[in-house]
Amino acid sequence: MKRIALVTLTLSLFHTGFTQSNKYTLVITNANVVDVAAGKIIPHQLLAISGETVKAVDDTKAIAKYKAEKYYDAAGKYVMPGLWDMHIHLRGGDTTIEANKALLPLFLAYGVTTVRECGGDITPSVLEWRKQTASGELAGPRIFTAGPKLDGPNAVWAGSIPVTNPAQVTNALDSLQKLHVDFVKIYDSKISGDAYLEIVRQAKQRGMKVTGHMPFTVELKEAASLGMDGSEHLYYIFKACSSKEDSITQVIREREHSDRPIGLFGALPALYNSFDSAKAAQLFKFLAAKHFNITPTLYISKTLASIKTTDHTRDSLAKYIDPTIIATYQGRIRSARRQSDEGTRFTEKYEALVMSLVPKMYAAGVNIVAGSDCGAFNSYVYPGESIHGEIKLMVTAGLTPAQALKTSVINGSKFFGVESQFGSLKPGKCSDLIVLDQNPLENIAAIDNLNAVLSHGKLYSRADLDALLASIRH
Ligand SMILES: [Zn+2]
Repeated sequence: MKRIALVTLTLSLFHTGFTQSNKYTLVITNANVVDVAAGKIIPHQLLAISGETVKAVDDTKAIAKYKAEKYYDAAGKYVMPGLWDMHIHLRGGDTTIEANKALLPLFLAYGVTTVRECGGDITPSVLEWRKQTASGELAGPRIFTAGPKLDGPNAVWAGSIPVTNPAQVTNALDSLQKLHVDFVKIYDSKISGDAYLEIVRQAKQRGMKVTGHMPFTVELKEAASLGMDGSEHLYYIFKACSSKEDSITQVIREREHSDRPIGLFGALPALYNSFDSAKAAQLFKFLAAKHFNITPTLYISKTLASIKTTDHTRDSLAKYIDPTIIATYQGRIRSARRQSDEGTRFTEKYEALVMSLVPKMYAAGVNIVAGSDCGAFNSYVYPGESIHGEIKLMVTAGLTPAQALKTSVINGSKFFGVESQFGSLKPGKCSDLIVLDQNPLENIAAIDNLNAVLSHGKLYSRADLDALLASIRH
C-alpha cells in the first residue's frame, strides 16, 4: 500500500509540473483573424497566448493540442491587434495628475493598447505610469513618451524646455536621455529655425527619434534631409506643397522679428493659392524615400473647425473626463468662436484640400500614422473615441479600411522601429489585441463595437471594460 501511495504522489507531482509548463494563459478559438497588412480575414483561427506573447496560431480543429488556463470562444467575431494612438497628451499641471491618470483606462475601454504621448508638463507621473502599465499594476495602454517638449524661450506650453543655441540643445537632449524618454518632440511656438535644425542634427547623432511641429522659417526638406523622423499635423507638409514655398518662407523670415510677423495661420491663404500638385507628388516621393512619418490628426482639425456649429452638451464621453480637464477646453472654444465667417469658409476649403493629400501620401509610401491629439486643452477630442474618429476619417479621406487600420496598428510601431513585435497576431508577436463584433474590413465603424481587449496579457471582457468605464465616471 505504501508503495502505491508513493507512486501516485510521484505521478501527480509530475502531472502538475507538466501542465504548468505547457499550459497557455489564454487560448482563443474560432477567431476570424484580421490580417491588416494583407487586408483579409483568416477564419477558424486558434490563438495560443502566454502572457504578452502569441505563442502559436493554428486551425481551431487542432484544439486538443492546446491546454490553457482560460479559453475564449470568438465564434462570429473578429480579432485584430490592439489600436495605437500615436498622438496623445497627458498634461495640465500638477493639479490634473489624478485626472490624467484616469484617462488611461478610457483608452483601454476603446481598444487602444498603445499610445505615443507627445509632450507635456507632468513627465514624472507619465514615466511612472509607463512603468506601472507595463508591469500590469495599472490598467492602461503601453506608453511611449516624449517627456517635455523642446521649444524657444517663453513657449506657450507649460513644461517645455527652452533652447536657443547648440549648447542648450545639448543640455536639453542630455536631460531627455536621463529621463529615458522614447523620442523627442519639438514645438514651434517660439523656437528659431536654427535651434530647430540643431535639435534635429544632435538628436540624430544620438540615435533619438525626433518629430513635431516646424517653424515656418524652416523648409520641410531641410529638416527631413537632416533626418527628422516625422511631422505632426499637416501644416508643414502643406507648406512644402506650395510652388512659392521659398519666397513665402523668405518673407516669413524677414518679418520674424518685425512688428508684423506672419504666423502659421497668416501664411495659409498664400500657401493655399500656390498649392502645386506636381510639387506635392515629388515631395511625397522624397519623404517616402526618407522613411518619413506623418501624423495627419484629421479628427482634431475637424472637431475644432466645427466647434461653433456642434452641440457638445450631450457628448457621451464627457462623463468620463475629469472636470479639471474639461475646464481646459475653454481656450480653444473661445478662439473658435472668435473666428470670422470668412475664416470658417477658408478653414473648410483648406481642410478638404489637405485631407485629399492623405491617400496620395499613403500611395507614395509615406508612413502615415494615426494620432488623435486628445488630452487636456484639446476640446472635445476624447481619449479612445477620437482615435476611432481618426481612423474613420482616414477612410473618408480615401484609404481602404485595411489601409486606415494599418496607420494605427502597423505604422505606429514602425515609427519606433518595433514593427517586428507588433502589427499582426503571428507567433512571437505581442498579444495586445481587440475582439470586434463585426468585420472592420467591410465597415470601418466596426471598431466602435468592442467585445473584448487583451492588454499586457490581461483579458478584459465587455463587462470588464464597462466596469473600467464605471470606475472613472463622474
Ligand atoms: Zn499635440
